[in-house]
Amino acid sequence: MKTRSPLIVANWKLNGGTDLICTSVASFLRQKFRVQIGIAPPYVYISNMANFLRNSQIMVGSQNVSKFESGAFTGETSAQMLKEVGCQFCLIGHSERRQVFLENNASCHTKVASTLAAGLMPIICIGENAQQHELGLTKHILYRQLQESLLGQNIKNKQIAIAYEPIWAIGSGKAATPESVQDVHEYIFNELCTIFDEESAKNIRIIYGGSVNKNNAAQLLAMPNVDGLLVGGASLDPEHFSEICALANQITPEVEFNS
Ligand code: PEP
Repeated sequence: MKTRSPLIVANWKLNGGTDLICTSVASFLRQKFRVQIGIAPPYVYISNMANFLRNSQIMVGSQNVSKFESGAFTGETSAQMLKEVGCQFCLIGHSERRQVFLENNASCHTKVASTLAAGLMPIICIGENAQQHELGLTKHILYRQLQESLLGQNIKNKQIAIAYEPIWAIGSGKAATPESVQDVHEYIFNELCTIFDEESAKNIRIIYGGSVNKNNAAQLLAMPNVDGLLVGGASLDPEHFSEICALANQITPEVEFNS
């Protein structure tokens, strides 16, 4: 049985607006979930959304965070500022940020540290590209991403999560198979045991992202080391996203989890 409560996160990317916020909020306020649910809209909507969802179980998060705390860094938003407006988690190192905005493991390390210091949950996104996948380099790439973004982080009494998102599966309609995701998540769990210790690793949710939808969500979540899902495209349809959350809820027993 899983010891970590499932975490289902919506990544809206550069999409959505007031209409999507209203329909999402309306659909979630009506429902009760045993799983933890988070929505990461574009920065400008975080404050409003956090206010709307104040009395709900739904967390609001950001898709990025600055590696700086304050100062002459035009266009940046710090972890502390995000915390102040009601943000509860930050996606860090999404492959689109690595590819388009040249983020790397070193910048992820700094962002994870400032997010933890501000009391937000970092969700660190890692994953291999198509070429690395074909060359059988997946675990080698993940090893470096995990080591270089996590080594030395103080996670005592903090919530953190890892999102395994194979780049070739993102937005492609070709999700990784549940069995291959299980294999990779088991590897990630073992690496987390080495970087931290087994007790700490057991409290870190390892979630999968890449073309998740209501048709494949249950099979992915049925895998023992899959602790949740990061959903891009399908989360832009509130009905579709809440169906995924409902599926996660259905297969989650009514028990107290460690995290
Ligand atoms: C993502 O980019 O985080 C993602 C999971 O996208 P999609 O679900 O659209 O593949």
